[in-house]
Amino acid sequence: MIYKCKNCGGNVVYHPDKKKMYCPHCDGTDTEEEVESATITECANCGAPMEVSRYTSACKCEHCGSYTVFEERLEGELAPHLILPFQISKEKAVELLKKEFQGRFYTPGTFLSEATLEGMEGIYVPFFLYDYLASYDYAGTGTKVRSWRRGNTEYVETSWFRVERNLDIDFDHIPVDASINMDDNMMDLLEPFDQKALEAFQKKYMSGFQGEIFSEGLMGLEPRAQEKARKDAEELLRETLSGYSALHADRKHLNLQRQTANYALLPVWVYYYSYHGKKYTYYVNGQSGKVLGKTPFSAGKMLVNGAGVWGLLFTIMMLGKMILEVL
Ligand SMILES: [Zn+2]
Ligand SMILES: [Zn+2]
Repeated sequence: MIYKCKNCGGNVVYHPDKKKMYCPHCDGTDTEEEVESATITECANCGAPMEVSRYTSACKCEHCGSYTVFEERLEGELAPHLILPFQISKEKAVELLKKEFQGRFYTPGTFLSEATLEGMEGIYVPFFLYDYLASYDYAGTGTKVRSWRRGNTEYVETSWFRVERNLDIDFDHIPVDASINMDDNMMDLLEPFDQKALEAFQKKYMSGFQGEIFSEGLMGLEPRAQEKARKDAEELLRETLSGYSALHADRKHLNLQRQTANYALLPVWVYYYSYHGKKYTYYVNGQSGKVLGKTPFSAGKMLVNGAGVWGLLFTIMMLGKMILEVL
């Protein structure tokens, strides 16, 4: 289906700055009405044939530039639970990319030209968001060393502590991308997405963007979510164990219990650039504006890294018992 303007018949799209449905042809807002497509392979506006992959849920007509949303791929088992609407407009994404690369390295003339940047596309990337309740049971020995001098004698005091920790962690919405077209690593690096901006799915947000349905399954992707939870739990544990110069674990067990998993669409701007026969891909987080990509013209250092933290510590049972002191 396509969103047509009641005033002028133009294609109404979702506007990230206005946070409204907007008709770029007559400047109208919230003037849309739904018009059904005849078939999935033709544009609902001009009837031109469209190249639609089996995972496409929204796309742009090459011929007239209108955006068609494929409802039948957003219903039933394919219905997303949540969507994070684009908050960064195309103009803003282009600006951010330019800011990141301008004058940074030697950049080929066309890399940041308006004409090439015009090809930047906003894509709603399919993700599964996993929720876990975790308990982390840890026991071991922690060492603390203290030294001082009196006269000509140096004293060293080593204390060993029996350390026990029992953490209850609530993991909320650990994101894992479910698209075979997207580089897993890059999607991880695009984090964090602010989960508070997630909304119940509405298809109107997709007008003006490309969309994909999940091409990898919830179960198959779960090890990636568990790995993220494990890393996060390790970090939280370490925070509660600061102050020891050495630690030796003799019991360490993380229990992860999946509560739910949500199917969600998250916003990503993608820009493809070809240089000397090689294809480079750049990403801009459609919510935070974080820019990601390798410069084809330098050593190729990644611009950004870092990931999100999903775990919220809600109970910590700490037990630190001193077992021995030597002077
Ligand atoms: Zn209009
Ligand atoms: Zn068309």
